[in-house]
Order: sequence, then structure tokens, then C-alpha cells
Amino acid sequence: MARRTILRAGRVVDPVTGVDETADVFVEDGRIVAPWSGGGDAEELVCAGLVIAPGLVDLHTHLREPGFEHKETIESGTRAAALGGYTAVAAMANSEPVADHAGVIHEVRDLAAAAGLCDVFPVGAITKGLEGESLAEIGEMVGAGVRMFSDDGRCVPTARLLRNALVYAKAFDEVVIAEHCEDASLAEGGQMHEGYHSSSLGLRGQPAEAEEIVVARDLAIARLTGSRIHLCHLSSARSVELVRRAKREGVRVTAEVTPHHLVLTDEDLLTYDTNRKVNPPLRSADDRDALRTGVADGTIDAIATDHAPHAIEEKEAEFDQAPPGTIGLETALAAVLTELVEPGILTLPRALEALSSAPARILGAGDHGGPIEPGRPANLVVFDPAVTWLVEAPFASKSRNSAFLGRRLVGRVVHTMLRGELSVVDGKATR
Ligand SMILES: [Zn+2]
Repeated sequence: MARRTILRAGRVVDPVTGVDETADVFVEDGRIVAPWSGGGDAEELVCAGLVIAPGLVDLHTHLREPGFEHKETIESGTRAAALGGYTAVAAMANSEPVADHAGVIHEVRDLAAAAGLCDVFPVGAITKGLEGESLAEIGEMVGAGVRMFSDDGRCVPTARLLRNALVYAKAFDEVVIAEHCEDASLAEGGQMHEGYHSSSLGLRGQPAEAEEIVVARDLAIARLTGSRIHLCHLSSARSVELVRRAKREGVRVTAEVTPHHLVLTDEDLLTYDTNRKVNPPLRSADDRDALRTGVADGTIDAIATDHAPHAIEEKEAEFDQAPPGTIGLETALAAVLTELVEPGILTLPRALEALSSAPARILGAGDHGGPIEPGRPANLVVFDPAVTWLVEAPFASKSRNSAFLGRRLVGRVVHTMLRGELSVVDGKATR
């Protein structure tokens, strides 16, 4: 017998079609279908007062498995993702072993399938072992279905190597190279953004130019090769302006920003909170405001978490010893709703586009990101846009290093549906 679910009387917001109306969504055997008459045997979820949207898609998740299971596992990370409203995440390649050949790609995908909570799109490394010397087995990984390649955590060190990677990737239509923009020589030793606050706190600074130099270089090489490039976690106002100009000139560039760079600034480090030590660092209020404008006008395509779990004892170290990174999957939607949609910086459809349909398009995750139409796979999130909650441990993530710890946020996921199966019901994971 067909498995049927009705999401009853929710506010359907579809950033792809522009639909924003109260409606029922009918799901049968994993797909959205046209309304049928009569209720029959269908499971019914009352969604009055709730928003129904395409499931969120994260371009930038560190799941840590294989190799760093004390920080996160694929099971715990995908559970956190489902609870955050995600139906697909791109898992970065800096595991141990590095995902620089098809074997690790298959391992990650198999572990994700066994957990069954969220689709995982493994990202392949650009260079062998992330060492920045020779290209990884890109062709073999494309054959295994990989669509995004990144040495994230490290920057492709030379323009020549980046050019080789972009030319090689261009042979595969749907493949994108994603860059962690950071000039290592300039960033080295930097604990936070270089500016007034780094001086007053006595911490070594990392200037915004460390990012901007690489953004400019990569845009030039993308122009030269005609290839697609995706720029990860932009943090500076000048980076946004460089991308804006390059897009105008027809360079095939997309970009992402994290919720923490959209919300926090270097001033939020006055308490030496290691959970707010991130890479790239939180920058000035002017930078944050330019990032907000960039998302609003589409210069920055996507909001991505850079979910980076670290064990408690690692983050309890002195500020200059603690590893950079914050978890983000369970708070991204609420942070965006609270700090960007509520104050009117982003419309709700634009926020959902940046969290769902835009990243799905960049990643080539065609089953995700809407539209919410008959025949489409039922990958959906249902959230309460009005409920207030306190960000506190425990998390579904194995780690608790959240930059938003202790904050009150508005908006919370109620249900997440992956191909018609509920991965989250009433705010609880189903497995
Ligand atoms: Zn990175």
C-alpha cells in the first residue's frame, strides 16, 4: 500500500516558484503529489501557524568521520543536520584519511545511508592529502558522483595549481571547485581579525587582506579559464565587492557566508570565548553589514554553516591554543530568522533561497531545494517561525562549541522530511 502523508494548512513558502500561501502538501511514496480526494489511510500533520519550505541544503559541513569520531560522526552530524531542517549536506574532505580518492567517498556515503537521516554529498579534495602539491583523483571521484571539490581548511597555494584544477574540472560540466580563501603567509599565527579589538585584547591579528588577496586571485583565474568557482565563507566587505564586480563581468562565481559572520563581529570576542574563535575570523561591524547586503542583493548566493565540531577539552584550551570553528547545523535557520528576517534585512523567501534552493543548485543536488510541486521528491522542512528558544547543550552534535551558546533565538524546526520519510517529528529525530 502507498505510504501517504498530508501536511495540512501550513504556510508554503517556495523560493523557486515564488509561491507563498496557506496550503496542504500531499506526499505519496516519497514524492509530492497532486491533492487526492478523501483522507484514507494517510498520516496527517497539522501545520497551522507553521512554515513549509524545501529542506535546507548545507554547502559546508565538517562531519569529521573518518578519523575524528571524538568530535563528530556521520550519524551524529546528520542527526544534527536533520534537527536543523537540512535534507542534504556537503561533507568536507579534510577527514583522516582525506577524501582524495573514491574509497573514502564511498565510505562516507555508505555511513550516511545507514544513518538515514540526511543525504550527504561528499566533497572531494582538490589536491592529494590536501597538501597543495598535485591534483587528487578528481576524475575517479567525479565517476563516483562527486560534484564539489575543495581543500577546505587550506587554500590552494598557487595560482598555477588552481588553474590546473579549474581547467581539469571544466571538462566535467557540473563540477565546481570550492575555495577556502586565505593567504597562509599573511594569516599565519592570527588569532582574530586584525584591528582595534585585536590590539586592545593583545591577540595577534589576521587581516581581511589575507582573504581578499585570494578572492582577487581566484576571480582572475576563473576569468582566465572560464570555469566555475565557489568561494567559501566570505568574511570581508571588500571580498563582497570583488565578487559583485566579477559577477557583473560574467565570471562564473558563486559565494557563501556563514550565519556567524552575518550575526557576530570581532567585538564579540571581548570575553575570549573560544567558541567564537573561527576561521576566517569574525570581522568588523562594517564587514558584517556588507555581508548582509551581499546576501540580500544576491552577490552572495548561499548561507552555509561551516559546521566545525571540536571536543570540549579542545575548546577549553587557552584562546591561542584552541582550534577554530563553531558548530552550526542546529542553529543556522533560527539565527537567520532572528537576526536577518525579523529585522527586515532579508525577506523570508530570500532567506530560504539562500539556505536551500541556491546551495542545491550550486551542489547539483537536483532532488533538493524545491520546487514544492507534484512529482518532486518530498524533501521538506516544517518550522515554527515564532517560537523562542535558548541555545544550550546538549546538542545532537557530539560537540557543543556553538558561537550562539546562551543566546535566545526565534524559530525552530518542527518536522523534517527526507524523501517522504520523517527524519524529525515534533522537534525530535526519529532515529
Ligand atoms: Zn574553510
